[in-house]
Amino acid sequence: MADYYHILGVDRNASTEEIKKAYRKLARKLHPDVAGPEGAEKFKEVSEAYDVLSNKEKRQMYDLGGADAVRNGGAGFAGGGFGGNGFGFDGGFGDIFNTFFGGGAGERGPASRMRRGGDSLVGLRLTLEEVVFGVEKKINIDALVQCSTCHGHMSAPGSEPETCSQCHGSGSVQRMTQSILGQMVSVVACPQCQGYGTVITHPCPECAGEGRVRSTRSVTVNIPAGVDNGMRIRMQGWGDAGVAGGPAGDLFLEVDIADDARFAREGDDLIGEIDVPMTSAALGTTFDVETFDGPHTIKIDPGMQAGDVITLNGLGVGRLNRGTRGDLKLKMSVKTPTHLDDEQRALLEQLATLRGEERFSKPVTAGTSVFSKLRDKFTGRSS
Ligand SMILES: [Zn+2]
Ligand SMILES: [Zn+2]
Repeated sequence: MADYYHILGVDRNASTEEIKKAYRKLARKLHPDVAGPEGAEKFKEVSEAYDVLSNKEKRQMYDLGGADAVRNGGAGFAGGGFGGNGFGFDGGFGDIFNTFFGGGAGERGPASRMRRGGDSLVGLRLTLEEVVFGVEKKINIDALVQCSTCHGHMSAPGSEPETCSQCHGSGSVQRMTQSILGQMVSVVACPQCQGYGTVITHPCPECAGEGRVRSTRSVTVNIPAGVDNGMRIRMQGWGDAGVAGGPAGDLFLEVDIADDARFAREGDDLIGEIDVPMTSAALGTTFDVETFDGPHTIKIDPGMQAGDVITLNGLGVGRLNRGTRGDLKLKMSVKTPTHLDDEQRALLEQLATLRGEERFSKPVTAGTSVFSKLRDKFTGRSS
């Protein structure tokens, strides 16, 4: 384990001022902006060392229990045999010590290598149509899986982890330290076996002793109808394999729905727009529209207005885990003809005259208040 004093290049009795000075000097030299990626790693170490040694409390903990003691804040060490915060330090400090001044060291036993595998999160891109009906999706999962050579045991086939020669399997060793309280014995994780009590002397060649290898698996997932953006679908046990027999983590699929060219989603409803020629809106008609359920005949009543909504019940988005569906709402957009030939113009003028609307067929200056008033009247539904 790296020694913080060594990293900063200072004496164990260095004053806070000396530590600060040493840090500044190293930070200037190793800052990632100056030293690049290689310096970044070193810079991280230096920063960690400084973080601990510049803080009076952390430094005391470090002096007594090493880096682990600082990191854990004392947690993970059994005991409190000396009565919690008996020294007047802040919380957890007393727990660093299993025993003091000799006797009974090492009672916490070796640490287990077993750990739960990590969770992973991947994006799941869906089309709106897939969300409407739900979908079976085949996805590729890139995760750590148990090594098939050593079956997660980390040792090469035919070999076993050996009892650590330094701690004789207990996982911890006593360390004599000089502290403000005089000479003390503290119990720390064995540096040779990292506290596991055993050492993997012949690591599995396939996984380099990790017990896990990265692999891509393919799996079919049932995505229910009605999922929404940002929702996470949990696939239990499809995350990284556990370490040394620990349970696997979970995989979370985060839903991301692509925009659809035809429809938008509003809760469980689908919203669309239909273009209707001015004449059809006036005369009424029926025609087919494309929906996710195939073509569907809709009826435009004579005199329908722009903005009117035609609702197709039950053609919307499937409601999540309910088996029913929302509606498809089609909003009318009335298209006014833009390029009139002479005959069409004459017919429209004739129609305007018949309806007593001929004054509207004269050119009007846009933007005047008179125009707005007239326009409002023209688009009113009463005529
Ligand atoms: Zn292996
Ligand atoms: Zn050991």
